[in-house]
Amino acid sequence: MHTRDLSDHSPYVPGRGDEEVARELGIDPAELITLSSNENPHGASPDAVEAIRESAESISVYPKSSHADLIAGLAEEWDLAEEQVWLSAGADGSIDYLSRAMLEPDDRILIPDPGFAYYGMSARYHHGEVATYDLDPADDFEQTAESILDAYAGERMIYVTSPHNPSGSVMDLSEVRLLADATAEETLVVVDEAYGEFAETPSAVELFEERDDVAVLRTFSKAYGLAGLRVGYALVPEDWADAYARVNTPFAASELACRAALAALVDDEHVERSIESARWGREYVREHVDAPTVESAGNFVLIEVGDAEAVTEALQHEGIIVRDCTSFGLPEHVRVTTGTREETRAAVEAINDVL
Ligand code: PMP
Repeated sequence: MHTRDLSDHSPYVPGRGDEEVARELGIDPAELITLSSNENPHGASPDAVEAIRESAESISVYPKSSHADLIAGLAEEWDLAEEQVWLSAGADGSIDYLSRAMLEPDDRILIPDPGFAYYGMSARYHHGEVATYDLDPADDFEQTAESILDAYAGERMIYVTSPHNPSGSVMDLSEVRLLADATAEETLVVVDEAYGEFAETPSAVELFEERDDVAVLRTFSKAYGLAGLRVGYALVPEDWADAYARVNTPFAASELACRAALAALVDDEHVERSIESARWGREYVREHVDAPTVESAGNFVLIEVGDAEAVTEALQHEGIIVRDCTSFGLPEHVRVTTGTREETRAAVEAINDVL
């Protein structure tokens, strides 16, 4: 018995947990400052935690009503029909749903380089092919329709990440519109807004009124602080009414996840605080770090440090974990998530020390 030939597939390697890193460094995990995964330093909404406590008894049954309730809540939030909300296990799950719904064998997708790796992994799992468009560090990873169209060759889907991971750059809606206008009717432009809450620019959902070739990805992992629960969703064109039931994993989000996400969705205070904190943090880093940075609309900042691997390792010895961007093809950059004010200040001080 053997698997299909997976030699072309890059393995997914999760980041190491705090406990493992702390054990290796011989320090208490509570002393680590982890700024490598764009998680929320303020944790989850207390209402979400309370919702989990209250629903702990109900985990023996499938999340029939909670799944439907969360979809209804999100449809109301975005002023869309319920069929347009595709709930999934993280935004990652929605990327898979889009691959399933869109890709015939050998269909191609176009994704940013550098960029979020799962777009390409998911397409390959679904027998698709992957092409890339370049975002140029020398232009601060500027995202324009023109630069994407230079690489476009009729792909079935184009992924745009706005704010972009790992740079934090955004693509203006006018550019998304130009891109969608210039591509074939059968090309879907997917705007991944995993970090959308932190940006000051409007969501691409605004384009839904005028067109049906744009989809949006959102997640509860970042501004809502629920990364461990795995809840995300896609917002899709109106005329895809029955497609979700044909591609979804049954009850992709668990009972606890759905109840917590619904509670988090209406806890404006917590989400506002998280957004404020990220905006303060990214400005603080850019102002105080002694190295070139990119303007970021996310909860992280990309910093050009020279030797990313050496800097990441030196910081690790100070108990500060940042993301070495070598795996993004950026061996001179690290990406630093905004922490609490105290954590962000400590990280900047440590970075300046090791530079
Ligand atoms: N898109 C981007 C750009 C991301 O950075 C991430 C996670 N870091 C995701 C999607 C997936 O997020 P999740 O599955 O946790 O919702």
